[in-house]
Amino acid sequence: MGRGMLSKSKFLEALDLIAALFPDAHGELNWDTPFHLLVAVSLSAQTTDVGVNKATPALFARYPEPEDLAQADLTEVESYIKTIGLYKTKAKHIVAASQMLVARYGGEVPQDKGELVKLPGVGVKTANVVAAEAFGVPGIAVDTHVDRVTKRLGLVAWNKTVGDVEAKLMRTIPKNRWIKAHHQLIFFGRYHCTAKKPKCADCPVFDICQWDGKYEAV
Ligand code: SF4
Repeated sequence: MGRGMLSKSKFLEALDLIAALFPDAHGELNWDTPFHLLVAVSLSAQTTDVGVNKATPALFARYPEPEDLAQADLTEVESYIKTIGLYKTKAKHIVAASQMLVARYGGEVPQDKGELVKLPGVGVKTANVVAAEAFGVPGIAVDTHVDRVTKRLGLVAWNKTVGDVEAKLMRTIPKNRWIKAHHQLIFFGRYHCTAKKPKCADCPVFDICQWDGKYEAV
């Protein structure tokens, strides 16, 4: 495509400009305990955070603790989350994850990512978000926004996997910035460098960005 790859220093320059655009970027899922965060993140795959936030207050009120959800009737759980995409699979996962939390972890959400990914329905991305948000463990969960932004900027080639993107971001961004930078990249992808009609004409990193499509989007 005739585009160059971005150096580490140029990427960090772009990240500073993105951080200035979204200084208050933060997680947008509503939760109050690590267990509720785990459930909310599990429900959020391929769905908006806004949609998840609409469903979770009633769900959390009905099933406040892992013990409650572990014993829940699956059809009833589905009824609380049926506005959410893939709700049948997600209902199965959150009930099964709760059962494992009770059986193996004393009803507590483990802090270790290696343990978190053993829970049904919990992938690396969910484990990263839970560990970072609930327990302050540094991590960079690569969702669709982070993946797109990182590739458009040119830090990582388009054919790389999310695992490659995660590894590259962790090598590039200083560890003490991971959690904040993660939110800022998500906000940038969600509200500025959007999948369709990115705001290239009004972009603080236009000159740094390696994406050929930026000229057509202006
Ligand atoms: Fe995204 Fe366009 Fe900015 Fe590049 S120039 S980072 S594609 S909004």
